[in-house]
Amino acid sequence: MSQVDVFINAERIAARVAELGTQIRADYGDVPILCIGVLKGSIVFMSDLMRAIPGDVRCGFLGVSSYAGTESTGIVRITHDLKQPIEGQHVLVVEDIVDTGLTLEFLLKTLTVRNPASVRVASLLDKPARRVVDVPVDYIGFPIEDRFVVGYGLDLDEKFR
Ligand code: 5GP
Repeated sequence: MSQVDVFINAERIAARVAELGTQIRADYGDVPILCIGVLKGSIVFMSDLMRAIPGDVRCGFLGVSSYAGTESTGIVRITHDLKQPIEGQHVLVVEDIVDTGLTLEFLLKTLTVRNPASVRVASLLDKPARRVVDVPVDYIGFPIEDRFVVGYGLDLDEKFR
């Protein structure tokens, strides 16, 4: 990649994150929300979203890596686990982008068996055209077409975050 064009500018992102924060708090009511950021792509969105959600917001991080022979048969494993139990808590998984959905499917299975009170998902970006498995995404910043994007936490071989 030799040239990077602006796809969604900083003002649009900030405005959408503020909207999501307000909507998330309204939906949850007055309960603590445990945001679980998926490393590393979500970190910038996560830090902005946490500050946009009024009230009691807590955080944890999960690291995952996907490696696969082909894109559609991704095997996902945990590279960094949560440091706290999530039983009885209202979990909001914070993702950078949902593409095939395989990472999110794995995450939801992994988290659900730990008995949280609820699990919802917020993703900055969503590429519905690329979906391989049907996964619920409760809060979407921007649905986008099938193109590769970088920045605001998303990388290309660690560059452009
Ligand atoms: P999925 O398991 O849904 O196919 O993939 C999710 C992960 O793939 C994302 O968390 C992200 O790390 C990576 N990914 C998918 N599409 C893009 C993209 O357009 N740009 C970047 N930088 N990463 C992407």
